Amino acid sequence: MEFESRILYPALSEIADAAKHVAKAIPELLWPTTCVICDKPGEILCKDCMQELPFIDRWRACSSCGAPMCAMQCTECNATALRGFEISKLPFDDAAQALALTDDVFRMIVAYKDGGEMRMGEVLAKMMLSYLEPHLAASLGKSGALTYVPASRDALQRRGFDHAKLLAKHISDASGIRCLHLFEQPVSKDQRLLNKKERFENAMRSIHLKEDTKQIKLPESILIIDDVYTTGSTMFAASIALKNAGAKHIHVLCCARGMDVR
Ligand SMILES: [Zn+2]
Ligand SMILES: [Zn+2]
Repeated sequence: MEFESRILYPALSEIADAAKHVAKAIPELLWPTTCVICDKPGEILCKDCMQELPFIDRWRACSSCGAPMCAMQCTECNATALRGFEISKLPFDDAAQALALTDDVFRMIVAYKDGGEMRMGEVLAKMMLSYLEPHLAASLGKSGALTYVPASRDALQRRGFDHAKLLAKHISDASGIRCLHLFEQPVSKDQRLLNKKERFENAMRSIHLKEDTKQIKLPESILIIDDVYTTGSTMFAASIALKNAGAKHIHVLCCARGMDVR
């Protein structure tokens, strides 16, 4: 009798499971997943586009700032280039970026930041993590931390999420390096229309540590996460703030490297 009633009336948990499958399938039917670069249906980044991505050859990149093809002599962080920022040496120990900022990479980042494709965050974080030296990841996991410069209030309202915070979270989850929320939300982080010196001045004005951060003893080594490194202004200002607050070693890890053309 009990057997028959199970056939006629499925258990509530079975109905709930079926409802969950339907709820998952509906968005995929209405808005099928397509590749953010070539639009091919199936995955947010198809295998063909993934293979074509311009990953930076780290052996040929600058070991200080990560600029591609600058291993022998870096045009981006030598004394003359830094004079434009009115600093004499890089304020961080080293920086690495996974990809050169080509049009395709730009599309990928825009899809993540402005196109509502938040799933891209995990994909980008995985690529970034492969550019974090294992010995550095191990030492940061032991006694260091990672952090990020939060999105400005305007950007947060426009996008509905903090892209840098989410990247930092994915990297923290995958690496075991604890994520600390050390910076205030900047008033404005949009640097796109400014030249190198103006970007740096703007970053120095708008990037500050939270009041709570000033009360704690910072870890000696901190990794800063961001999506795009162009002039380095944001990472310079963030590194200077952390060093002034007692951090000794700053490392930078970004998804893409854009070359400054201004
Ligand atoms: Zn594709
Ligand atoms: Zn360099």
